[in-house]
Amino acid sequence: MQSYALEYHKEELLHVLQEDEEEDHYSITINALTLLESSPWMGDILLTSPRNTLPLFDSALVAAQRTLLKVAETTDLTIKRNIHARVTRLPVCPELTRDVLPKTSDVGNFLSVTGTVIRATTIKLLDCEKEFVCNQCRHAFTVEADFEQYYSVCRPSKCPNEDCNNVSNFTVLAEQGSVPSHCRNYQELKMQEQVQRLGVGTIPRSMWVVLEDDLVDSCKPGDDVTISGVVLRRWKPVTVDSRCHIELVLKANQVQVTNEQRSNSLLTKDMVRESVETSLVPSLVFPSSVTYILYNKYHRKLSAFLYCVK
Ligand SMILES: [Zn+2]
Repeated sequence: MQSYALEYHKEELLHVLQEDEEEDHYSITINALTLLESSPWMGDILLTSPRNTLPLFDSALVAAQRTLLKVAETTDLTIKRNIHARVTRLPVCPELTRDVLPKTSDVGNFLSVTGTVIRATTIKLLDCEKEFVCNQCRHAFTVEADFEQYYSVCRPSKCPNEDCNNVSNFTVLAEQGSVPSHCRNYQELKMQEQVQRLGVGTIPRSMWVVLEDDLVDSCKPGDDVTISGVVLRRWKPVTVDSRCHIELVLKANQVQVTNEQRSNSLLTKDMVRESVETSLVPSLVFPSSVTYILYNKYHRKLSAFLYCVK
């Protein structure tokens, strides 16, 4: 991966090296088609085992920066550790590029889904690991937050020190109210399938998408997006006598806003004028369901207009 990055993304990596902010997050956009063509096995492990492969790609981008730094002639370059490989342009095939939301059988796979953002949560700071100390042997260790359990940090079930048999007596190291040391930006989106891409009579479904680091705030409700990422499961803590809550979630690797394509492909100014002219009078007596069909068929701006007329 390092040699691939040096061959295809040298200029971008040099730009990242020249940036001043060492702690910021930076992205290198990897074209999946180019990757698959130049190194099929690397593309293959990305698609079949993305959870392990994506962090390796990020590490390779850091290593590539180090290589460039060694041969650089200027001295004002710094290595950026928070650099991410963002994979875009997946091959167009039913396994990898979807208009409908992934299913349980897709868990663990890397794919791209096209939909519309209908909700976005506020951006939060996520504390992604906690330090504990064993009260028996004073061994200090970190526990990472578990994505599959809504990023909760579980209390350790056993001391990692092999000579110690403590299973319950641990203290959290960080003081209450202190600034957590390992934080990242975090936001969730609700993405809905686009009606015009579904079969007639199909009700669009929606799912949560998790954005982290520099991906947060990259789109807003109403945007059409193509998001590539890993399909994962997550669940709330289980309690006796209550139903277990498990859901599928897409952990985004790359977000592309595609509003431009929508207006170009679905709607021209003439179409808007024509539709408005022909439906103005009936809209005064339209039930809301008719407006809803129009909304799906043409454009949300048009339906908003009709709503105002009503
Ligand atoms: Zn211990």
